[in-house]
Amino acid sequence: MDPLKSRIREIPDWPQKGVSFKDITPLLLHPPAFQMAIDRFVEEFDTASIDKVAAIDARGFLLGAPVAYFLDAGLVLVRKQGKLPSRTLAESYELEYGKNVLEIHDDSILHGERVLVIDDVLATGGTATATAELVKKVGGLVAGFGFLLELSDLNGRQKLAGEHVFSLLVY
Ligand code: AMP
Repeated sequence: MDPLKSRIREIPDWPQKGVSFKDITPLLLHPPAFQMAIDRFVEEFDTASIDKVAAIDARGFLLGAPVAYFLDAGLVLVRKQGKLPSRTLAESYELEYGKNVLEIHDDSILHGERVLVIDDVLATGGTATATAELVKKVGGLVAGFGFLLELSDLNGRQKLAGEHVFSLLVY
């Protein structure tokens, strides 16, 4: 088994029946696995001239911050509604379970900057698509998407067709 996959804990029927929740906290607890995950993202996007990493609330922050550091890029927080203190733009989206609104600071990306979107899980692709919309709304170019894991049955990759989509693990 992939050394990263063995560090992902699957919680059946959480937070609701029918959802198999992918818990990344065991991976975060294990330095070699955490380092390997970050290194793989950095290797994949090292030559993509990334200016900013847009990390998605909340687990995307944990991965996006070290990736931004190593890519020598700025870190943009894409947050759930009502959390960002300055002027924001918003986008609503469907989740595998429920509905949500994401926001971005309207001055966090300069016109034409190349942005890498990072999150822990690609499920239906709604969250990533909404984030890409926010990046474009503030003037950025989406240069790629990076996920720790992808739930292939939910076809999120199809929503991101034509983009550079990189998942460390596929379920
Ligand atoms: P989606 O918008 O459907 O692609 O859902 C992706 C977002 O929801 C990510 O921010 C994930 O953290 C979270 N998510 C969705 N499904 C799961 C799952 N099965 N396990 C863990 N997180 C999930």
